[in-house]
Amino acid sequence: MKCYDVIIIGTGQATGTILGKLLEQKQAIAVVESDRVGGSCVNWGCTPTKTLIASARSAHMIHRGSEFGIEVSSYHTNFANVMKRVNSIRNEATKGFTAWLKDTVDFYPGIGSFVDAHTIAIEGKHIHGDLIVIHTGTKARIPDFPGIESVPWLDNKGILALKELPSHLLIIGGSYIGLEFAQAFRRLDSKVTIFESSPYVISREDEEISEIARSILEDEEIEIITSASVNSVSTKSDQQISVHYQGGTVTGSHLLVGIGRIPNSDGLHLENAGIEHDDRGYITVDDECRTSVPHIFALGDVNGKGAFTHTSVHDGQVFLSALSGGSKKISDRIPTYSLFIDPPLARVGMSEKQAKDNNIPYLVATKEMATVSRAKEKDETKGRIKILVNKTNDTIIGAAVFGVGGDEVIAMIALAMQAGLRYQTIQDTVIPHPTVAELIPWVFSSLHTEEQS
Ligand SMILES: Cc1cc2nc3c(=O)[nH]c(=O)nc-3n(C[C@H](O)[C@H](O)[C@H](O)COP(=O)(O)OP(=O)(O)OC[C@H]3O[C@@H](n4cnc5c(N)ncnc54)[C@H](O)[C@@H]3O)c2cc1C
Repeated sequence: MKCYDVIIIGTGQATGTILGKLLEQKQAIAVVESDRVGGSCVNWGCTPTKTLIASARSAHMIHRGSEFGIEVSSYHTNFANVMKRVNSIRNEATKGFTAWLKDTVDFYPGIGSFVDAHTIAIEGKHIHGDLIVIHTGTKARIPDFPGIESVPWLDNKGILALKELPSHLLIIGGSYIGLEFAQAFRRLDSKVTIFESSPYVISREDEEISEIARSILEDEEIEIITSASVNSVSTKSDQQISVHYQGGTVTGSHLLVGIGRIPNSDGLHLENAGIEHDDRGYITVDDECRTSVPHIFALGDVNGKGAFTHTSVHDGQVFLSALSGGSKKISDRIPTYSLFIDPPLARVGMSEKQAKDNNIPYLVATKEMATVSRAKEKDETKGRIKILVNKTNDTIIGAAVFGVGGDEVIAMIALAMQAGLRYQTIQDTVIPHPTVAELIPWVFSSLHTEEQS
């Protein structure tokens, strides 16, 4: 049996981060991957969706051309070419990564699983690892609506393999994945209906932020049915798909289901190595990504401590720090993410709802994007900036920058939070004009207690 210093199971987003360092240390490394190298982000997540969204935005801006004095007599979506562009960008990414792996480590294509705490089986082969990293990510949760077995439903992988533009896309799930696909396909000219079981889309956000997202999407003629309890789905001989919910039935051409993710831990035979997990299958780790078995680490989405590429990459840094006796911790990071509808919603730290739930005394400051010069110049005035400040020490505890450029502007607030800056330091910062970021120092002039909001 071949022996390695390190075996990495799954090529999730921290692979690049940790491999570079381990290779510098001349470690003997094996990498096991059951599917396309690069994991969800590159193949079925961030990269292809943001590439698709870029095409959709082009269509949207052409559609709005006359508002900017540009007359366009006609245009149409060439869906084959849209997907060609998506595929070319994601294929390029995975190709480069695969070539790098094959050049630098022993690469084992196939499903890896534990035989014991040091032995991994891949397609009948066994390899030994002194240290093992589980980096297997998540997959779409399979729905259990009555009738689903007879319906050709799509998850995020399936929808990115479509050859034809859906004439009417039905989406069950009004969260991040559902909303991004909804707007992209609507802009490419599909009719779109979203079914969301809670009263709000992106229901973990503050209600007024959810309402802004809803109005942006409804303005683009996306149908959103909230408090929709889906009873069943069905299909007819004409291939049309129906979603039956308590308020009626909607029939469309394609069905996307985005109702959450589950960890890729079921096939790993964790029990053979004594690795603990929670009742949803997320692998239990300490603050350094170490599992209940000290020489086995779990990084990325599979440990349930994050659900983003940047959290997975940070786990990689925490892991390297743990190996070298450093002090990086998962709990050091402040949650941050963006919802890439257009305009984007970018978030960092706590929402107002979370601040209230945690009894944190706070002040809130808001500014409408409609008052931001750069947004007016671009005629993209939808959205709101909202920042929460800790009443006792003036540090920032959370922010939402919902509007044009928000996905970039949030970085300055994240940095201020990481550095523990008081909001007055941001107020004193001079920022180039005309940008959306230049308004952040001015937002604080509206700081008030929550009762006044
Ligand atoms: C539609 C969509 C859009 C997204 N957009 C964003 C975004 O804009 N920004 C963002 O930060 N995040 C986004 N995400 C989330 C992001 O993709 C993940 O959080 C990110 O990929 C981190 O995952 P990971 O590194 O833990 O593992 P992954 O990237 O999921 O990789 C895990 C790898 O392990 C492999 N594997 C699984 N089991 C085994 C096994 N037993 N043996 C061998 N290999 C195995 C899998 O094939 C996969 O290649 C999106 C996700 C989706 C689904």
